[in-house]
Amino acid sequence: MKTHVIKGDTVVIRRGKEKGKSGVVKAIFADAGKATVEGLNVVKRHTKQGAQGPSSPQGGGIVEKEAALPLSVLQYVCEKCKTPTRLRRGITADGLRHRVCVKCGEPARESAKGA
Ligand SMILES: [Zn+2]
Repeated sequence: MKTHVIKGDTVVIRRGKEKGKSGVVKAIFADAGKATVEGLNVVKRHTKQGAQGPSSPQGGGIVEKEAALPLSVLQYVCEKCKTPTRLRRGITADGLRHRVCVKCGEPARESAKGA
């Protein structure tokens, strides 16, 4: 399943409590239509105290973790023109599919293979 943003993209949040903030996509969950963004939509998770006692490396407590956001609220920010924009699919001379900024025409970087 193809998503309009990929891991490592800079995105801006268009709706919700984090509206207007930007960050870097940390992980994509294509099947769920969601993604986590570095430092955004952070929630506090209470973890259980480890049963092993004080020797447990992490112990229990509160862990801050990015909650997944729907892909539909994420808008790609072009690395070249620094503008929240859309991407279109283009084909380069060597026949590879590329994501291209609709504003400045710059190709966006592609995901690592398999990502
Ligand atoms: Zn651009």
